[in-house]
Amino acid sequence: MDTRRRDGIGMTSQRTRERLAARLGDAGIRDVHVLNVIRHIPRHLFVDEALSSRAYEDTALPIGHGQTISQPFVVARMTEILIRRGLPERVLEIGTGSGYQAAVLAALVGRVHTIERIRALHERSRQLFRQLGLGNIRTRLGDGHDGWASAGPFNAILLTAAPLSIPEGLFAQLAEGGELLAPVGDSEAQELRVYRREGERVIEEGVEPVSFVPMRAGTE
Ligand code: SAH
Repeated sequence: MDTRRRDGIGMTSQRTRERLAARLGDAGIRDVHVLNVIRHIPRHLFVDEALSSRAYEDTALPIGHGQTISQPFVVARMTEILIRRGLPERVLEIGTGSGYQAAVLAALVGRVHTIERIRALHERSRQLFRQLGLGNIRTRLGDGHDGWASAGPFNAILLTAAPLSIPEGLFAQLAEGGELLAPVGDSEAQELRVYRREGERVIEEGVEPVSFVPMRAGTE
């Protein structure tokens, strides 16, 4: 992908990104750091070139393999929640997809580890992170149900695919005081939930209804 050429396209310009950030502000995103990052990350590079012109609409878009890049509002919202208690040093994301959410996080936190189960998406995002010089993102092809124990513990864990219930082992990879943020439920009804680890206890809080692709087992 030739990023220089595509950066030059008018409809993917800085002004278009400004408009998206303004729209997210109107929609209720309050964190200025998050809005600033949205203003700077070229989302059009995370979607197929044929969809470039729609990259700054506040909507989810297909990225192939039956998956989607999350709606910017949802990315902003999840990021805002993850950093509300301060900027976490180490973050694990499960469901790399296009890589956009990981790129947003990487601009704010110390280090992002991200796992994807579909090889083609894993490879595309890895290449894009390299092109964009996002050196604080580590990628892995694998099943996120297992987390990434050797890289933990994490101050925050983010699921961008919805499980029916949180894979138990993930809590063990959460640092003391760390938070796990996930959409939980089936295709009919999902809720975004925050789980905070306090000693041996996990405190759970519901946030709002959401709609994510399902978390699946194994790799392909
Ligand atoms: N964060 C992404 C959202 C992608 S959609 C973005 O910003 O674009 C969710 C992704 O989760 C899909 O790519 C899907 O393949 C992946 N996924 C689903 N189950 C998974 C699992 N068990 N482990 C890792 N990735 C998974």
